[in-house]
Amino acid sequence: MGACDVCGSSEGRMFTVSMGNQTGTFDSFECAIHMMAPACEHCGCRILGHPVESQAGIYCCLHCAKEAGNPHQAAHAEHTTVAVPAEGTSGGQR
Ligand SMILES: [Zn+2]
Ligand SMILES: [Zn+2]
Repeated sequence: MGACDVCGSSEGRMFTVSMGNQTGTFDSFECAIHMMAPACEHCGCRILGHPVESQAGIYCCLHCAKEAGNPHQAAHAEHTTVAVPAEGTSGGQR
């Protein structure tokens, strides 16, 4: 195991990260994230959590997917959040 692929340091606890057919050697998670973590297509930040993937790209959150013009993902999220159709039931009983 050689030096860190990002900063070149070979001190500390070296480790490797494999993703798909890509493998990198790092001395810290900061360096690993710098090289391996995907960047949000909208805001450009590194995606460390579960990404929001669509045909258009990959995003860090639903907000970015929405802002980038991904109505399908955004509409799905709003639908699951609203569990009780309050407006529909009150209108029917009247
Ligand atoms: Zn490093
Ligand atoms: Zn983002």
